[in-house]
Amino acid sequence: MTEIIQNNEIAIRLGAFFGIFALMAVWELAAPRRGLQQSKAVRWYSNLGIVAVNTVIARIVFPLAPVGVALWAAERGWGVLGLLNLPGWALIVLSVVILDFAIYLQHVMVHAVPMLWRLHRMHHADLDFDVTTGARFHPVEIVLSVAIKMGVIVLIGAPAVAVVIFEVLLNATAMFNHSNVRLPLWLDRVLRLFVVTPDMHRVHHSVLPHETNSNFGFNLPWWDRLFGTYRAQPEQGHEDMDIGIDLFRTPGELHLHKMLAQPFTGALGEYAINRRDWKKEL
Ligand SMILES: [Zn+2]
Ligand SMILES: [Zn+2]
Repeated sequence: MTEIIQNNEIAIRLGAFFGIFALMAVWELAAPRRGLQQSKAVRWYSNLGIVAVNTVIARIVFPLAPVGVALWAAERGWGVLGLLNLPGWALIVLSVVILDFAIYLQHVMVHAVPMLWRLHRMHHADLDFDVTTGARFHPVEIVLSVAIKMGVIVLIGAPAVAVVIFEVLLNATAMFNHSNVRLPLWLDRVLRLFVVTPDMHRVHHSVLPHETNSNFGFNLPWWDRLFGTYRAQPEQGHEDMDIGIDLFRTPGELHLHKMLAQPFTGALGEYAINRRDWKKEL
């Protein structure tokens, strides 16, 4: 089983990406949660365009994929989890959970450090929220997050199969929880005990800074509840809330070349956690 997953890593990842993307795209068309405000053609061209740019850049900067790094570390017996003598399945589960926690911490960090917020805010500058928003990240942030992920893989000694499972899972949940699908409220309540749902993550895309700085989880919802960053619903309601940030609010900003420039243009604003005027909110 482990060998099958490792040897077919690219096919599994691509298959999961296109399969889940198609499923969510049809689902959000059939049962949308909100009406879209912007041209879907422009947004999809730009958001999917940046996926292509990111794929090429990541390949050039990192000839060895994260799964390759896991194999390389395993050959050398690196990683602290190796000291625990866990059975294989427990090592895989623990590695996936730790990698997810690392992504949560990284997400809090890119909201807290002003320079990193400049990179990450492009993800938040989308004026609508649908399946393609989940793939919309600046190339520099992608390079940073792949480097951090590789560091964590080596540090803990995550097995290659855990890395493949984590990447497929993260990709799938990112597309699911950014999608514009309407789920029955009872189902959302049950699902968000185990996974970040679209209603939970949409709060994170609110234009209100205190809502943007909540619900940082991408996959497991527990970190937000554990660390006090959980916010159940948006104040204005899901249908009336404004998506985006206060910068870059014109439709022209949704074009690919503008998105690439966004880290380097405009004021920092009040979103970065340690730049907020906390007194104003008390
Ligand atoms: Zn964010
Ligand atoms: Zn998001």
